[in-house]
Amino acid sequence: MNRYWSPLVHKLDPYIPGEQSQEADLVKLNTNELPFPPSPAARDALRAACDDDLRLYPDPTAAALRKSIARLCGCELDNVFVGNGSDEVLGHAFRALMQEDRPILFADVTYGFYPVYCHLFGLTYQHIPLTDHFTINIDDYLERPAGGIVIANPNANTGLALPRREIERLVRARRDCVVLIDEAYVDFGAESAARLVSDHPNLIVVQTLSKSRGLAGLRVGFALAHPKLVEGLTRVKDSFNSYPLSRIAQSGAIAAIEDTVWLEETVHRIKQLREDLTHALEARGFTILPSQANFIAARHTNIRADELTRHLRKENILVRHMETQRIADWVRITIGSEAQHQRLLTALDRLLQTG
Ligand SMILES: *Cc1c(COP(=O)(O)O)cnc(C)c1O
Repeated sequence: MNRYWSPLVHKLDPYIPGEQSQEADLVKLNTNELPFPPSPAARDALRAACDDDLRLYPDPTAAALRKSIARLCGCELDNVFVGNGSDEVLGHAFRALMQEDRPILFADVTYGFYPVYCHLFGLTYQHIPLTDHFTINIDDYLERPAGGIVIANPNANTGLALPRREIERLVRARRDCVVLIDEAYVDFGAESAARLVSDHPNLIVVQTLSKSRGLAGLRVGFALAHPKLVEGLTRVKDSFNSYPLSRIAQSGAIAAIEDTVWLEETVHRIKQLREDLTHALEARGFTILPSQANFIAARHTNIRADELTRHLRKENILVRHMETQRIADWVRITIGSEAQHQRLLTALDRLLQTG
């Protein structure tokens, strides 16, 4: 608290990201980063971009990057918006496209940033409970008044995904508001709604280079939407920061987007590792939700999630314990490398023997 703060700042309830420790020898399975380095082509492009042109401002419209994304996603340049991580894109979308006079609808278990944006921008929201199986039921979103609807697909913290036809059913039924689909994890096995944007003026699909492309440190995210929605986002962006992406970020992101072979191989490896880890944990008495993301939600019959998280932290292994009431029994474990999984399983075996 401070008397120079604005009333708004006193009331804010900021998002708390997972621990980013600098400690060496840490098995970091808490923030859904890739265990592998990003595409070599992207790294070459990043190095090459560190040249004399850095004295110049970057292209404020990031046209070359948006063109690459449009080609990848099979849409047009004016369907694409880019930002400094998808968190920024989401923030602009809440500001530009969500209405104040009705609540924003999102699940009670989902990405923790959505209520934070609502507080920041003076929006109200309503949590829609997941079903007893932790799935999202689209029928729950069809009738209520809504100033906007936000669905993470696959959902954050559960990893469960909806098929595209369910997203389409929602978008068709809710012409009265914008439907935002947050596809941070979509490359790991879910169906993208990207191809629906050309037919639906109220749909916005948000993706990121932080997860499947292993570039969390670069901060690049993007949205696909009707040109009028993109124009709304751009109006907010240009009222806040005209140059959210550096020359370096734009160059690296283009190379990363175009390296589709690297992406395919990486996704294949993560899926294999996800399957292996799921079986290994099930063999140790864990229940695992069937994930289409690069993390799994796990619950043990005998050990509480907070106890498990604390024990693993002592062994230099970070996993994420969600404190949300609904999922307080569960830990979220990022899919790591084989060596990281081995460390995790060895630590669990020790705990299960003594516990
Ligand atoms: C990680 C994540 C983001 C944010 O990604 P950045 O592009 O790194 O800002 C957004 N939404 C969900 C659901 C995420 O898990």
